[in-house]
Amino acid sequence: MRNFDYKLPTSLNELTDMLSHGGHTARLLAGGTDLVVAMRGGRMTPEVVIDTKHVEELNELSFNDHTMILGASVTCRKVCRNPQIVKHFPALIDCATLIGGTQIQNRATLGGNLCNAAPSADTIPALIVLKAQANICGPHGSRQVPVETFCTGPGQTILEGNEILVSFSIPLPREHEGAFFIRFIPRNDMDIAIANAAASIVIASSGETIIEGRVAIGAVAPTPLYVSDVEPVLSGRPIADDVIAQAADIARQSARPITDMRGTVDQRKHLTHVLVRRALNGAVNRARGND
Ligand SMILES: Cc1cc2nc3c(=O)[nH]c(=O)nc-3n(C[C@H](O)[C@H](O)[C@H](O)COP(=O)(O)OP(=O)(O)OC[C@H]3O[C@@H](n4cnc5c(N)ncnc54)[C@H](O)[C@@H]3O)c2cc1C
Repeated sequence: MRNFDYKLPTSLNELTDMLSHGGHTARLLAGGTDLVVAMRGGRMTPEVVIDTKHVEELNELSFNDHTMILGASVTCRKVCRNPQIVKHFPALIDCATLIGGTQIQNRATLGGNLCNAAPSADTIPALIVLKAQANICGPHGSRQVPVETFCTGPGQTILEGNEILVSFSIPLPREHEGAFFIRFIPRNDMDIAIANAAASIVIASSGETIIEGRVAIGAVAPTPLYVSDVEPVLSGRPIADDVIAQAADIARQSARPITDMRGTVDQRKHLTHVLVRRALNGAVNRARGND
């Protein structure tokens, strides 16, 4: 690994200043579980590495009446251990507990997972169906964008020169709302998804009709994909196998996978259908209070 300067800012201002002065040779480090691997492999060669773990805004984890603020540098471990996240956002637990093993989860963050922008990133589909907004800060001020617009290609994001991801704003679930994440990997543990899927659903108090549903899929396109065409198919429809299968069909048609060492186009399309169906059924179960 090439030598680099290590910086540890303790405020957002200090961090943005360091990033501006470091220019294109500077790189942020949250948990480092992607960055350090890339540096070791020579795929990234920053001259300045700026650690974000001591900046308050990036480590915030708070709730108000309507929203959770989740700092970009909060670790998967903290997410999984937080009782309010366990209660309100089980879909985040579904994916955060799958990232590597315990050591990785003690370092890895949801912000790093998003900014790394891998098509197979496991937390992004769940963030999308939960309607997470990414709070971004840069030299020209702050802006907020829906997570589904954040990744623009493999390893590419909408972040412009010296912008950073500060946090996510995630609306608290409504009554009778549930969400679920699932992935398929070739072995039982510690692998990259061949396909993944998340779904969220709001159902009527009768427990029989869908009010609103969202689906996102991963590892089957250059970026994690929000499948907006599923929404009109689900809204106002009964909770029935044929309705859920129809939504899964649309997700399969939206998938644009490639064949690589992990899986083929056909396998990934088939998996997308199966995983979306299971994610929707899992979300319905949670919306009914059964899980
Ligand atoms: C053994 C192992 C197993 C893994 N398993 C999985 C898995 O199952 N599923 C999965 O999805 N991933 C997995 N990963 C990949 C990785 O752990 C995750 O992507 C993790 O969430 C990255 O978070 P991090 O905090 O470590 O990011 P870092 O490595 O610190 O950062 C990742 C990238 O984002 C940039 N960045 C970080 N924070 C910000 C910010 N606030 N603003 C702008 N840019 C920022 C960094 O500069 C870097 O380019 C695994 C990695 C390893 C080593």
